Amino acid sequence: NVLRSDEIWLDGKLVKWEEGQVHIMTHALHYGLGAFEGIRAYRTHDGRLAVFRLREHIDRLFDSTHICMMKMPFTREQVTEGCLELLRTQKELFANGAYLRPIAFMGDGAMGLGAINPTRVAITAWDWGAYLGDKGIREGIRAKVSSFTRMHVNVNMVRGKISGQYVNSILAKREAVLGGYDEAILLDISGFVAEASGENIFLVNKKGVIKTPPLSSPILDGITRDSVLRILRDSGREVEEVTVTRDALYISNEVFFTGTAAEITPVREVDNRTVGEGKPGPITQYVQETYFRAVRGLEPRYAHWLTYI
Ligand code: PMP
Repeated sequence: NVLRSDEIWLDGKLVKWEEGQVHIMTHALHYGLGAFEGIRAYRTHDGRLAVFRLREHIDRLFDSTHICMMKMPFTREQVTEGCLELLRTQKELFANGAYLRPIAFMGDGAMGLGAINPTRVAITAWDWGAYLGDKGIREGIRAKVSSFTRMHVNVNMVRGKISGQYVNSILAKREAVLGGYDEAILLDISGFVAEASGENIFLVNKKGVIKTPPLSSPILDGITRDSVLRILRDSGREVEEVTVTRDALYISNEVFFTGTAAEITPVREVDNRTVGEGKPGPITQYVQETYFRAVRGLEPRYAHWLTYI
């Protein structure tokens, strides 16, 4: 029962949702060569709809396709305009916000790993509530360190949001959920904390030092991570982008996840150990509040993060 767009932007044109179909021989379906984005649009305080950090998301999409050597048949401006057009034509449907999913993928034609088929591009939109639940946002979630490892930086291309790479995330997520947890935390091949299955991770230690794994570890360069670094540093707090051990999470005062879908989600438990007081701590709350104010257009200093449709 997802509220979804009536139309899909497919290869440059708006088509009906039902017509957003691809052939079984789509190369990406077999081998995973595709790149996608997850973008949120929010209803701002004055009732308008604004897309959060659209330019950064489109830039990352084009970085991903460049890394995969996929030729993009559209310019950044055309894909940007496609996102806005999709929302504009369905303004009422998405009056309360929307999640946008642009995807570029290798289409059908030849098969085999050496094939180079034309890249196809689609944008869909739907209404996606809190990814880890409203209760998760309010009270925090329970996470488990995964038995699956985040792949080495020369296995997965970590600066890309590449479709096939998500099998690793799905295996970790399923394992965690089947085990009764809400989310999986993946370690890198050396055993250091990387990120969650679809979120970056921050922690606050007992001395109040805020840390997050560095971009040289196998993590996505999250746009929410970047926004949170900005919010924290602008508030006069320092954040260390450093290697984090698994047990550092256990003895932290606060742990939280950041991501477009998950927004700012507190983590109240890691591997059955209560984090801090088992509820969102003051820094997590500060970040959450400021982030939600920013996306709703209530923080003038972050007004440049919003593109009104
Ligand atoms: N890591 C992974 C593996 C993700 O899929 C995501 C979601 N895109 C993130 C981190 C968070 O990135 P962002 O803040 O740009 O959504």
